[in-house]
Amino acid sequence: MKVIDHIKEAKETLFSFEILPPLKGKNVQSIFDGIDPLMEFKPKFINVTYHREEYIYKERGQGLLEKIAIRKRPGTVGICAAIMNKYQVDAVPHLICGGFSKEETENALIDLQFLGIDNVLALRGDSIKTESSFRPHENGHKYAVELINQITDMNKGTYLMDDIQLEPTDFCIGAAGYPEKHFEAMNLSTDLQYLKQKVEAGAEYIVTQMFFDNKKYFDFVEECKKAGINVPIIPGIKPLKSMNHISFLPKFFHIDFPDELSAELLKCKTNDDVQALGIEWAINQSKELKKAGVPCIHYYTMSKSDDVKLIANEIF
Ligand code: FAD
Repeated sequence: MKVIDHIKEAKETLFSFEILPPLKGKNVQSIFDGIDPLMEFKPKFINVTYHREEYIYKERGQGLLEKIAIRKRPGTVGICAAIMNKYQVDAVPHLICGGFSKEETENALIDLQFLGIDNVLALRGDSIKTESSFRPHENGHKYAVELINQITDMNKGTYLMDDIQLEPTDFCIGAAGYPEKHFEAMNLSTDLQYLKQKVEAGAEYIVTQMFFDNKKYFDFVEECKKAGINVPIIPGIKPLKSMNHISFLPKFFHIDFPDELSAELLKCKTNDDVQALGIEWAINQSKELKKAGVPCIHYYTMSKSDDVKLIANEIF
């Protein structure tokens, strides 16, 4: 079932979460171990991130280095299929522009359709370590809006391969939004103009980047409305877990901690301190968001369920 239909049918705020495929070489059981404890909260959909290939150099003797492309977390599509099969819950694969030609994107979408997957979160993807800024595939998409256009074309029955007659696909498309603006955007208004383009191209809902100050989300929703973006905007919540998060999250995700939270974080001495504070903070955020009637609260679990379970116990 489509995410947008889950939202339309819902009588109250839905619960959903995001997981990462396991590191290459690890068993899919680790994914199920992360999902099992959260099933009691009846998630309507589970997102699975997509990770682009990275490059490593291998010594091949006589000083020769061979450049090898590896994907550290393969398996997004297979894991989605496994989730739908095991739990009868909708899985939402993330699909990115980076590393994909348009033909490869088309083939990936055909695979998803054959597997009975109704949803896709369409993203540009981040640059990889060897790039100073995002570089699209030479025959791929530069921005998420172009990927959304391709999926919408397929939903209308227009494929790149004009010699093959395939049924139109019927994907519900989601897109990413940034309450604190995307780090490359000149300002929030240009970012919103491009977000609006994604909605006009066919995105039926938006999932936000994590934020720790609900005011930023509420303001963002207001600004979206003013800009003419009227699709559901699902807040993304990330429970803080370790001392490392204190500097890593602002650096990697370009988000700020509100003063009240940073003051409490300064008192933390151990990972356990941060985790306890993170759970309490996320519970308070979630309570306020639910009270405000948000369509769904989407948790970034990093495939670990312990803290999200404690939060969900209080909310759902
Ligand atoms: P876009 O919408 O293409 O925007 C990128 C930048 O370009 C923005 O600054 C925007 O303002 C600007 N822009 C957009 N359109 C245009 C245009 N037409 N002309 C000029 N400028 C434009 N990354 C992964 O690699 N894998 C994942 O699984 C993944 N999951 C994510 C899930 C969520 C909910 C979120 C919020 C992010 C996720 N990301 C993931 C990270 C995401 O790929 C990065 O934040 C990326 O840098 C931007 O992706 P986007 O789809 O928002 O890009």
